[in-house]
Amino acid sequence: MLEWLMSPFQNLLPVMGGVASSSERLLVCQVCGKEFRGRNLRQRRESHLLTHTGLRPHICPHCPHRTALRSNLIKHIRAMHRVSPVLTPNS
Ligand SMILES: [Zn+2]
Ligand SMILES: [Zn+2]
Repeated sequence: MLEWLMSPFQNLLPVMGGVASSSERLLVCQVCGKEFRGRNLRQRRESHLLTHTGLRPHICPHCPHRTALRSNLIKHIRAMHRVSPVLTPNS
């Protein structure tokens, strides 16, 4: 996990689909080309990829609302239901 911290020029290299473990500073969505930089790249790209699959695994416990992103569901619950989100850790 520390290799890229010690490779300041890593992000000058071409990114081939963002799958190379040596290019963690920049990941690219193969579907839409969106670039991810900074922390938790992989996690954020994984979440982002869900938006392309049409899957919405996160279901509001208070209404039929479904969302692809857990963070969006938390926002939804706070905004729409005015309660603290109590979600089972499913991802
Ligand atoms: Zn994308
Ligand atoms: Zn809801």
